[in-house]
Amino acid sequence: MKTGILGGTFDPVHIGHLAVAERVHSDCGLDKVVFIPANISPFKVGQVNSSGEHRLNMLRLAIGENPHFTCSDIELRRGGTSYTVDTMEDLKVLYPDDEFFFIMGMDSFLELNGWKGVDRLAELCQLIVVTRPGYDLTQEQRRSLELPPTVWQRTRFLQVPGLDIAATEIRDRIRRGQSVRYLLLPEVETYIHENGIYR
Ligand code: ATP
Repeated sequence: MKTGILGGTFDPVHIGHLAVAERVHSDCGLDKVVFIPANISPFKVGQVNSSGEHRLNMLRLAIGENPHFTCSDIELRRGGTSYTVDTMEDLKVLYPDDEFFFIMGMDSFLELNGWKGVDRLAELCQLIVVTRPGYDLTQEQRRSLELPPTVWQRTRFLQVPGLDIAATEIRDRIRRGQSVRYLLLPEVETYIHENGIYR
């Protein structure tokens, strides 16, 4: 089983995430993609917007009937700060026969040298880095990233259709009462309004 993992805060999940997951699933020949919301992202400590329960519910609504998408509450249940390497260690024990592919946007890849246990992470899974508008990997950045050679060997870069959408902007727009239509799935938008999230 080739399993893609898309980790993030998903606060909220938007069509940028869904388009990336669908594209990688198709182009990399994955069997499924698992969306894993972080309990606390190491890079977003203290920036709580909506609860883990809300973020998981929104993911479930966004995934809907897509047969090759699923989500997992493994990081929410573990609690504390969510380090991807810890999650991959746990998944490897739970599913020893699976081949794992961790999917991330270029913005995340540019911060990868600050992640816990990158060497180990590259042993546990391959990395699939997708393009994201506004984030480029220049030759200069390549050098300054200081990632171990094993990480580069296990990383594949994939061009995806650029969707300049970020959850931060969606939250800001909702706070200001501006439209977010077509940036998220209607089910997710309804959930946000019904629960008064980001107001
Ligand atoms: P925020 O604005 O709150 O930081 P975000 O929109 O970047 O949120 P995350 O949940 O942090 O969303 O992202 C999860 C993963 O999806 C990250 O690896 C991120 O790079 C990737 N990602 C998010 N949005 C896009 C996009 N529009 N295009 C490509 N990759 C994306």
